[in-house]
Amino acid sequence: MENENNENIVTIDSVCAYCGVGCDIAAHVDVKENKIKKIFAHPDGATSEGNLCVKGKYGFDFVDSKARILKPRIRKSFLEKNPEIKTAIADSLTDLDDTWFESDLEAATTAGAMKLKDIQSTYGRKSVCSLGGARSSCESAYYFQKFTRYTLNSPHVDNCARVCHSPSLKGMRLTIGEGAASNPFDDIYKTEFMIVMGSNTTEAHPIVANRMIKAAQAGTGIACFDVREIKLHKFSKYKVIAPHESNLLILNMIAHTIITEELYAPDFIEKRTKNWEHFKENILADPYANPEFFREIEGFEYLADMIPKIAREYATKKSLILWGLGITEHVDGSYAVMAIVHLALMTGNIGLDGAGVMPLRGQTNVQGVCDMGMLPYYAPDYQAPREVGLMTPQLVDGMIDGTIKGVLNIGEDLTHIHPNLNKIKKAFKNLELIFVQELFMTDIAQRADIVVGVKSIYEKTGVYINAMRKVHLSTPLVKSDLPDDWEVIKLLDEKMGGGYDFNSSEDIWNDVCKTATNRFKGASYKVLRDNEKVGISWPILEDGTGTPVLHREDFRTQDGIGAFRYHRYELSGMVEEILNKSLKGYHLTTGRAMAHYNNSAQTKYTEKLAKRYTEDLLLVHNDDAADFITEKVILKTEFGQTNPLRVKFTDKVRPKTLYTTFHHEDSKLNNVFGDKSDVLIMTAAFKSIQVEIISVA
Ligand code: SF4
Repeated sequence: MENENNENIVTIDSVCAYCGVGCDIAAHVDVKENKIKKIFAHPDGATSEGNLCVKGKYGFDFVDSKARILKPRIRKSFLEKNPEIKTAIADSLTDLDDTWFESDLEAATTAGAMKLKDIQSTYGRKSVCSLGGARSSCESAYYFQKFTRYTLNSPHVDNCARVCHSPSLKGMRLTIGEGAASNPFDDIYKTEFMIVMGSNTTEAHPIVANRMIKAAQAGTGIACFDVREIKLHKFSKYKVIAPHESNLLILNMIAHTIITEELYAPDFIEKRTKNWEHFKENILADPYANPEFFREIEGFEYLADMIPKIAREYATKKSLILWGLGITEHVDGSYAVMAIVHLALMTGNIGLDGAGVMPLRGQTNVQGVCDMGMLPYYAPDYQAPREVGLMTPQLVDGMIDGTIKGVLNIGEDLTHIHPNLNKIKKAFKNLELIFVQELFMTDIAQRADIVVGVKSIYEKTGVYINAMRKVHLSTPLVKSDLPDDWEVIKLLDEKMGGGYDFNSSEDIWNDVCKTATNRFKGASYKVLRDNEKVGISWPILEDGTGTPVLHREDFRTQDGIGAFRYHRYELSGMVEEILNKSLKGYHLTTGRAMAHYNNSAQTKYTEKLAKRYTEDLLLVHNDDAADFITEKVILKTEFGQTNPLRVKFTDKVRPKTLYTTFHHEDSKLNNVFGDKSDVLIMTAAFKSIQVEIISVA
């Protein structure tokens, strides 16, 4: 506790609400007013290192926003179509406006359960699915999948990792058996060389970027790959601006140099890997794997010299590779992740302090939600589920063909953050039930039949797992009468004939520790509280010991051996067009601005953040000014078009390429993306699409 000249002010430690860095925070809270006054980092904070980015520091006004959903809402037209439900809950309904009745939690869950039963009896047990949860706690996600799989008896569970790091999970599971970062963030200080690929770290994971910059200033070389100039390039020894969709091409080239110059680690390969000879032969025979190929790619010839230099430094030093969605959101995202792991396996740059592979996962708890089994092909602890369900894009197809009729959704704005929004919105119109648990009336909430307002992260106790596997037990900063997500699920569960006797988030977590023993056996609330300041990374052994570095002795594959899985780069996209001298139109890529998080559901209700980035700007190279004669333009593809976007000229993007963010729902950016996605795991190819430009008069 701390007295800041006001006896009502206390200091409470917890975890940041936003990105996968998972910074430790401290808050000054006025307990009399029940209000957060200030959020800051402890100077000795283990993850934050005493600093928070603007979201962590200022992004808490949303908690008190007047726009919070305080009472459950039920759509009037839904009750007109379901008169027996209306009769059952009639006493609880009060008029809100032309669209909504307000109700209470008991009635909202009764209505939800009645409709779920109706849908399942008419269309079958698999006609309902559960989506989301990555902004909620592990406990809620665990219960969400358990309720869906066992009480509803539907295998269809998925979360927003589908649109971000699912390829990291896939690529790493297939090669080293574990789809999570091998090392803690602080290993950035212990490494001698870093490859950062497809990660605009200073904007998307700022407190990790702080470490990169400090390491670079202390002499650690960084090779930073992106399709445009980003801030991290300023601190990088190798500043690579690559053509769109060339990640796998470049990664195979790095492997080619390491092989041809015999820079690999034969002892490590012999002892800890398999398929090496097959991989080596294929790389050497691959016409695109030789860096000399870039001499034919006009504007990128310099990469023929730079890639071998990067390969030499990576192979001969203790090195890390870190990546973001610039790797995963492509058709070959999973294969590119495998190609990253290959580099670590062939050089022995894994299983050591300061050497490893680190996907920078997006949302606060996206790692945790995947760990909890909120994926159609994994039960908790990445065990096989009793039945494999469908991935979100397949479920959308199911909505269109009429096999999926009900969606339960926790905090994933499905009609904003997914691609091909015209298709998705059409699909959602076919549903008979959309049940949403949210803080605000997001786009999906506005389309819902039933919306239940729930506690935010700053109002509840729960476990969150960050991008370095650190398991953090959050403490509520303020009190709220709203239910936690798991409490809504519990009511649905009871009314659907389930009967899990969970009466607190700790009850649920104890079940996680008993079920997910490979990672959480010793992770009781007590152990998590005891380790609150420094954090503890899974796997957490029975005696409460964590595991900051994975793969020291063996890999987490069934045989303990790492596997090479060669995949050839397929000539396509911008590289093919440049090679054939047929580059036309504009290639668009997307990313985040620091002030917002994804659909800005929370950040736009925080004035200090909202005013920093009020609209999604379109970055255009100065040389292309002749094609952008109006202040705003519309981007168009065969799938749809954006609303007008304001143009900003810069030399930070290459000519004939464009960049924008996707934070503002009004931009309708995701209208332009179709169903093109990672070939193994269906993560949308958000990082490159050719667009037509329409001037706005
Ligand atoms: S880096 Fe991420 S976790 Fe840290 S303060 Fe910023 S948004 Fe929060």
